[in-house]
Amino acid sequence: MSNVYIEKAEEAVLHTYNRYPVVFDHGEGVRLYDVDGKEYLDFGAGIAVQSLGYNNKAYTRALKDQIDKLTHISNLYYSVPMMEAAEKVVKASGMSKVFFTNSGTEAIEGALKAAKKYAYERDGKADHEIIAMNHSFHGRSLGALSVTGNEHYQIPFRPLLPGIRFADYNALDSVKAQITDKTCAIILETVQGEGGIYPATEAFLKGVKALCEEHDLLLILDEIQCGMGRTGYMFAWQEYGVMPDIMTCAKAIGCGVPVGAFVLGEKAAEGSLKPGDHGTTYGGNPFVCAAVSKVFDLYEEEHILENVRTVGAYLTEKLDALVKKYDFLKERRGKGMIQGLEVDGRPVGEIVVRALENGLIVMTAGGNVLRFVPPLVITKEDVDLMVERLIKSF
Ligand SMILES: *Cc1c(COP(=O)(O)O)cnc(C)c1O
Repeated sequence: MSNVYIEKAEEAVLHTYNRYPVVFDHGEGVRLYDVDGKEYLDFGAGIAVQSLGYNNKAYTRALKDQIDKLTHISNLYYSVPMMEAAEKVVKASGMSKVFFTNSGTEAIEGALKAAKKYAYERDGKADHEIIAMNHSFHGRSLGALSVTGNEHYQIPFRPLLPGIRFADYNALDSVKAQITDKTCAIILETVQGEGGIYPATEAFLKGVKALCEEHDLLLILDEIQCGMGRTGYMFAWQEYGVMPDIMTCAKAIGCGVPVGAFVLGEKAAEGSLKPGDHGTTYGGNPFVCAAVSKVFDLYEEEHILENVRTVGAYLTEKLDALVKKYDFLKERRGKGMIQGLEVDGRPVGEIVVRALENGLIVMTAGGNVLRFVPPLVITKEDVDLMVERLIKSF
């Protein structure tokens, strides 16, 4: 059956993805099922989105209830779900104000605009520069692409935003070298995801924060992939005690509905975007905000952070054991439930394809890394089964 669907899809859908030949039908917990009824253990979670697992009953109930009441009203009016969702983001982050978007890339766009506006308000000039990191990933729209440190993604779409300078991640001197009197912000992922699962070192993140304070720059932390509990902290920066001036969220913040956010600390909230500076038709509508609001409640009720810490430690242990056992596994990186295994001398894509055949979903990152970003509700038994299916796929 699936071949028919795949052929029909390829006839009508623009071919921007080389998709795996699987047609999924439904999901339950940490498992997905294809149209032929085959079961898959999911350590990809729809790219770090489905942190509560599939078909979480309390979550789907909240969405169904909201659909029956109201889905969209535009941002010209208030809604209770938006008020509640914003309140919960502010409380969890300790930051000041939220703007809801429809995706991660739009959250980045908003963050970049807020940073530029902050600098413009400060000195009245409109030629500010932003420092971004090599091997970063911030999204596919033109602004987000401009700060994505990957030439392969950028070249066909140039000219991109002017005034973007790239530095090396986890190399403070390299960042320092890019600061000019026009710099207004530094943007980085707290844990680089697509680039190959590289967590920021504590010295680097604290050093960048100190540079920002010294030069009155805004620190933008992209928490789209590593945030929402994935490292064992609601936001990855909380482990370092380094609060950004602007944070971007998406992926797991909606657990399956398209929503993102950029969140401003007091300084950025007071001194940047004003009425008329930014907008969105759909962003933060009652439907997606009901999802965000329920996600925060369920994180507490289901003790998600605790589970990431205990089962994440178990996952770390098991992945370390694999690195010890197999020569072609070079190193494990990451923390909690955002982990990578660097593969050396074997095509990582082939392992992923064979894993899929063996009923395991894993993804790649950075070209030679196996990426593990499972739903945050996995158990130790799920980790054991993952390892079993992965070894079968080597
Ligand atoms: C996925 C991702 C984005 C882009 O989010 P979209 O919702 O795909 O637009 C930006 N930054 C990071 C770190 C991501 O992982």
